[in-house]
Amino acid sequence: MLYDNHGREMTYLRLAVTDRCNLRCFYCMPEEGIHYMPEKQLLTWEEMMRIVQQLYFLGLRKIRITGGEPLIRQGLMEFLEELSRLDGLEICLTSNGVLLEKHIPQLAKLGVRSINLSLDSLDRKRFHQITRRDDFDVVYSTMMRLIEADFKVKINAVVMDGKNELDILALAQLTKQYPISVRFIEEMPFNGSGKGPAILKWDFIKIVDHLKAHFGDMQAINLSYGETALRYQIPGFKGDVGVIAAFSRTFCGTCNRIRLTAMGEVKTCLYDDGVFDLKAFLRQGVSDEDIRQTFITLFGNRPKDGFEAEKNRKGIINESMTSIGG
Ligand code: SAM
Ligand code: SF4
Repeated sequence: MLYDNHGREMTYLRLAVTDRCNLRCFYCMPEEGIHYMPEKQLLTWEEMMRIVQQLYFLGLRKIRITGGEPLIRQGLMEFLEELSRLDGLEICLTSNGVLLEKHIPQLAKLGVRSINLSLDSLDRKRFHQITRRDDFDVVYSTMMRLIEADFKVKINAVVMDGKNELDILALAQLTKQYPISVRFIEEMPFNGSGKGPAILKWDFIKIVDHLKAHFGDMQAINLSYGETALRYQIPGFKGDVGVIAAFSRTFCGTCNRIRLTAMGEVKTCLYDDGVFDLKAFLRQGVSDEDIRQTFITLFGNRPKDGFEAEKNRKGIINESMTSIGG
């Protein structure tokens, strides 16, 4: 089992399989001038599988495939098929939903039951303004298909001042009829510009207060280990709502996440700027044992929380979330 130096079990890998995306969410990346990495700078599927196998050996129980938009990279379904052979490994996917619908039957067959779908607005015009693409209809219909096919659906919505506060209640209202989780995420500074929001107006406290002011007393749901969302059920509703304090960083104490970027950088925290170039290491021809030992060493030296990780950075936060994976 892989533990960090604070006694946290490291059982969850978030693997970004590409830095490319078919949307341009303004909180995540600039509209133009994006420097995507050339393919050979990205980990290959074989390299990713090798790393996953070593982490599995060290007790990995859950993997989330993310990006960029994971469905953009050719070969994803074959990779998921290989992952599905690792007994007991929970496979989850985070997607913007634009290319997902036709893969639903195969995802179900492969046992990928948990899908996080990014949907920041239920208004077509606002969706377009936020993502800079006109794909609302396809994403909404994909959400419906996933619910019908009985997937565990979590909707991720970044709350942005002056952009989609009107959507908070509308998105929460979805949980009345559908057994889904709607999670509101504090906006983080990973938008590729080197500048975060000047002040975070919609922090987790304000979001929860706003929900309570409208829906009355909500029932708090107990957190499971490693969970990042404060979750509540609105009485009589089928699903639940959650708030992820990604900027305020209230959840670091039980963080069990290993992050690997599409370029093969290991991150021991969302807020670090990459602590090890695993791709270069792999390409030196190292052994499986070397890979495992590297993870043990890196996580044996992990900052206690996101504030400490940010302090240890070499430069300011100027990367896009597409390279990190969320
Ligand atoms: N393309 C996929 C998607 O959008 O779901 C997966 C990758 S995306 C980077 C993963 C998650 O990061 C999404 O839920 C997105 O909303 C979130 N995200 C991106 N930039 C963010 C930011 N600046 N602050 C908070 N969350 C962000
Ligand atoms: Fe693409 Fe996801 Fe970033 Fe939006 S949040 S630009 S969909 S990677």
